[in-house]
Amino acid sequence: MSKTQGKNAFGMKMEIEEWLVGANYKIEFLELASSYQTLAQKVGRSEQIETVALYEKLHDYFHLIQTNDDEVPGQVPQELIEQHIQKVDDEQRYFCIEGNLISTKPKWNLCIPLYQNDKCFGLIIHTFLNAGAAKSFMNKNLSLDHFESLFAQGYERDRANSIGIKRDLLLQVTKKCHGSMDIREVLKQIVTALNQIFPNGTVHLYLTHEWKVDQDLSIKPLMYGIENSNRFAEHAYLKGELQVERAGRNINIFAPLRGKQAVYGVVELEVQMDKPLLKYEIEFINMLADTGGNALENAELYQQSRNLNHDLQLINQTTHQLNTHLRLKDTISFMTKQIVVSFGAEQVGFVLFESGGDIKVMKGSTPAFESTSLLTGLDQLFIEMKHNREPQFIGDSQNHQLFNHPKYRTLLAVPMIQSGVLKGAVIVLHSKAYRFSYDSFKLLQSLVRHSTLAFTNAMLHERLEKLVITDHLTNLYSRNYLDQIIYESLENDGYGAYLLFDIDNFKQVNDNYGHQTGDEIIVQVANILKGSIRDEDVAARWGGEELAVYLPKVELLAAEKIADRIVLAVAEETNPYVTISCGVAYWHKEDCPMSSKELLKMADDGLYAAKKLGKNRSYAQQELHAYKEKA
Ligand code: GH3
Ligand code: MG
Ligand code: MG
Repeated sequence: MSKTQGKNAFGMKMEIEEWLVGANYKIEFLELASSYQTLAQKVGRSEQIETVALYEKLHDYFHLIQTNDDEVPGQVPQELIEQHIQKVDDEQRYFCIEGNLISTKPKWNLCIPLYQNDKCFGLIIHTFLNAGAAKSFMNKNLSLDHFESLFAQGYERDRANSIGIKRDLLLQVTKKCHGSMDIREVLKQIVTALNQIFPNGTVHLYLTHEWKVDQDLSIKPLMYGIENSNRFAEHAYLKGELQVERAGRNINIFAPLRGKQAVYGVVELEVQMDKPLLKYEIEFINMLADTGGNALENAELYQQSRNLNHDLQLINQTTHQLNTHLRLKDTISFMTKQIVVSFGAEQVGFVLFESGGDIKVMKGSTPAFESTSLLTGLDQLFIEMKHNREPQFIGDSQNHQLFNHPKYRTLLAVPMIQSGVLKGAVIVLHSKAYRFSYDSFKLLQSLVRHSTLAFTNAMLHERLEKLVITDHLTNLYSRNYLDQIIYESLENDGYGAYLLFDIDNFKQVNDNYGHQTGDEIIVQVANILKGSIRDEDVAARWGGEELAVYLPKVELLAAEKIADRIVLAVAEETNPYVTISCGVAYWHKEDCPMSSKELLKMADDGLYAAKKLGKNRSYAQQELHAYKEKA
């Protein structure tokens, strides 16, 4: 709209003096507006003037400043006014139109746009019941030039005032925000500045990121695209434009926290006002929000670069560790520890999907993964993962179809895929809901991607190693390996026992049933051995039909019981039936220190004695009571 040069239009005789008295001689826009409304109502009484409403122009709409009627709309779109203004004679600076501009019922509207330096900054709308009344009001002599220039002066003065105070505050906030890489500090500054300008207002923040903020700030979740999201906050965020919600005296202003790359949230000012908010106040909020948005962006970018650095370090350290040829178990323990520390995880599990559908939890995972109830709870998730090979992020497992566990609420699961083959998955858990960030999820994925090759290699390596250290016929460990284990145990454990077994009369068994059946019997005895010992014990094929078991940290009495149990089991379970004899040897760092050679010799002697005593028995050279008394 441009100002049309016109002459004095109203034939209305209205005293400027009276208007100024009503405004207490204050050349302030709001005072003048309020006084004008009273005056216009008084002068228009004979025309039955209905409504006087003053609007200020803001972006692409006019917003309400002053009225005598509660029901007029808070905003009038500029389009609506422009559409009518085009119908108006160019020479006229006011226009009279029929329609329902601001009233729900069709009325006659007398509109006066207010100009300053050729720019429209406001609009006065009067409504009348009929055209005659509107025309009659117009014909009263009003020197509009004076009105307009005073309105313009008042407007300019308000603006200058408000700008002065706010510029200082803004400068202060800008300085503080830009000096800070601390998101918490930036948000606090914005809220404090708004509280200073609007002491009666309440400030809320809608944030897109999981930032840690001061506890006394009011934070609301920024939801969009769902039914119960706040429409105004949603618009402010998605459009990046300020929104105003008005209900009577309650005004809610939503200003987007804009940076150069993105919108980081919305700041809401909730305020009750008798007088309307002026454009410059709103612009101040906008500028403040922009300052905040930019500062948040800086702080966020800084944080991101630091995180990135940290992530790279973590990946670097881990791959380095994986390449140092640690044992698989130690590698997994190392990664488990890294994930617990970096992610704040409570449980970390490395599981292998074995052929035949079995799930194998790898050693080095945290203890919860030993529980079958947890693995049962993960069943559906594993099925889904085998099917689509996608990572999973479950923020809250309650009533979740893939994972449901009474103790663990947050879950991250990332598949381990090597050369297109799904090997297994890494599972990360926390007992509280929504404990991991999306960034952690991403980081875990790259960590797993970077380490799966090294894992697969370590697994292959161990399998190969196992082949070397395993006896082919019985699948027991080889003699070499047992030697090494005994050597290490003598160094580290303090005490332990060694059992040497020999099948009785085996030459005869071979003669009776043939060599192949003889082999099968050796396997049967080997299996009985394996089934009779703990994980940390080692069973080996010593050679021929001689087998051995090493029991680290086992007392002599217990070792004898184990030996007897095995001797008995062989006699009961083998088919064709055989018996075995056993020599028991025991060492103790202080009570009976021994070299590995001495230990083996002691067992050999025991075995010889057992044979001599009639076979199908065990024999310990050492005197049991010597240790019993000590105990
Ligand atoms: P005992 O130990 O009770 O004194 O009598 P034995 O008959 O077992 O005596 P000895 O230890 O002298 O004989 C061991 C026999 O076991 C010799 C060999 O033919 C047989 N043997 C050794 N290794 C194997 C094997 O791998 N498979 C089979 N089938 N037989 C084996
Ligand atoms: Mg023998
Ligand atoms: Mg024998």
